[in-house]
Amino acid sequence: MKIILLGAPGAGKGTVAKVLTELDGSVQISTGDILRGAVQAGTELGKKADAFMKAGDLVPDELIMDIMKSRLQEPDCKKGFLLDGFPRTIPQAEALKTLLSDLGLTLDMAVSLEVPCEEILNRLTTRRTCENSACQAIYNVRSSPTKIEGICDKCGSKVVQREDETEEAISRRLETYNEKTAPLIGYYKEEGLLMPVEATVTDEVVKAIQDRLKS
Ligand code: ADP
Ligand code: ZN
Repeated sequence: MKIILLGAPGAGKGTVAKVLTELDGSVQISTGDILRGAVQAGTELGKKADAFMKAGDLVPDELIMDIMKSRLQEPDCKKGFLLDGFPRTIPQAEALKTLLSDLGLTLDMAVSLEVPCEEILNRLTTRRTCENSACQAIYNVRSSPTKIEGICDKCGSKVVQREDETEEAISRRLETYNEKTAPLIGYYKEEGLLMPVEATVTDEVVKAIQDRLKS
């Protein structure tokens, strides 16, 4: 499958993507994971992205397009891909359209994960992420805690609250989302690719996507 996952921070894009990759071998491409990996590794990209991310602001479109241009040409994308956290702005969506057409690829759909606003805030403040950049497993202190407090079930590294998950950065991220990313819903509707889905329960989202792909 070749899908874009749209949705506010905390809508569950990463969680849904992980389940979907297991179904058909498509790869999850998360620009947020790639950027956090680069910050930890201290690469040039990481140095450029760090301050934007800490503040809850978007990283400039040019940097993101450089990442995606090379990422989408890696061999593991041949089986399909789930774009998680990209595109995030109309210019990114337009650049993606050109990039895909240059690569001879067509999208199946853009799935918009819809979660009520109060639920989003709730999820973000209780979210915890594995600090190992090769793992980045996601937990929630209320709904899906680690077996041992503070330790990742999958890799044994420490599980922490992300630096951009302070109350201030969260509200900045939500503002940024409403202003820059929410317009993508209208964009993909016009493109005839939009599939809105109510996203309170992960399994239901996954089933709805599978059903749509079959039909
Ligand atoms: P979430 O979806 O939970 O907000 P992500 O892990 O997708 O978080 O992204 C974390 C941060 O990385 C964003 O706040 C932003 O600074 C940066 N980022 C990720 N993807 C993009 C993108 N496509 N365009 C610009 N900035 C991005
Ligand atoms: Zn881990």
